[in-house]
Amino acid sequence: MSRHHDQIKNDPRYKAWRAGVLERAGHACEACGSDSDLTADHVTPLDAGGEPFDPDNGRCLCRPCNSRKGNRVNIRTNYYSTRYLTHL
Ligand SMILES: [Zn+2]
Repeated sequence: MSRHHDQIKNDPRYKAWRAGVLERAGHACEACGSDSDLTADHVTPLDAGGEPFDPDNGRCLCRPCNSRKGNRVNIRTNYYSTRYLTHL
């Protein structure tokens, strides 16, 4: 955890962003649907220049999915196909 990340997580906007991401996901993991041990994950990592407080750069993942998100593209695709398309 870098100093930069610590500053972001201490920012009040981070809490609002995290709450918003979990709320939008219906408090369920966007990869597997689990409702326990949820985290808010940055789609574009902060180290890669991702926006820390942009809801569009956030997604809700359970901790197991977050820790094996090497296939982040697949997770993202799954998210859109299962959540967005069913609302069209
Ligand atoms: Zn999961």
